[in-house]
Amino acid sequence: MKAVTKSWRGGWFSGPAARTGTTGTTVNPIFQLTGHTAIALVMNHNHRFRTFAENGFGYVGMCAGCRTINVAFQNSLFCLTLDQFEAFVEMMKNRIAMRPINTTHGKELMLPTPMPNYFLLFSDDDLTNLCALLTEATPILEAERILNLSQRLN
Ligand SMILES: [Zn+2]
Repeated sequence: MKAVTKSWRGGWFSGPAARTGTTGTTVNPIFQLTGHTAIALVMNHNHRFRTFAENGFGYVGMCAGCRTINVAFQNSLFCLTLDQFEAFVEMMKNRIAMRPINTTHGKELMLPTPMPNYFLLFSDDDLTNLCALLTEATPILEAERILNLSQRLN
């Protein structure tokens, strides 16, 4: 858990939203998007999108233009780099950074976001469905990462 959090350091959103997303010295790594990712989201750029996994709840794919990985789940969209994807999968599989919230409504895991008054809620079923998508996409994204590395070395 420590190692994952550590490896995400260095690419936070800047500004008040990022700071309010912190709890003491622990910052939610999901929302540690790179500047490029944030820009890619708001830019009116033409996304040539490759889909790696899809189910009734969402999809995982990559924009061939900016190489941002999009994890769409229900009404959330997580924009990640290849390196961040690996940590994201570990977070979701091991429920890292999630806190229990006990209500009678079933969504019992709460994940803080950089917005102080906005949280993501998951049930165990939600996370099972999300992890199914992530698991399906993982081998393809792992291959992408190896390809990336070898291109960088050549
Ligand atoms: Zn793009």
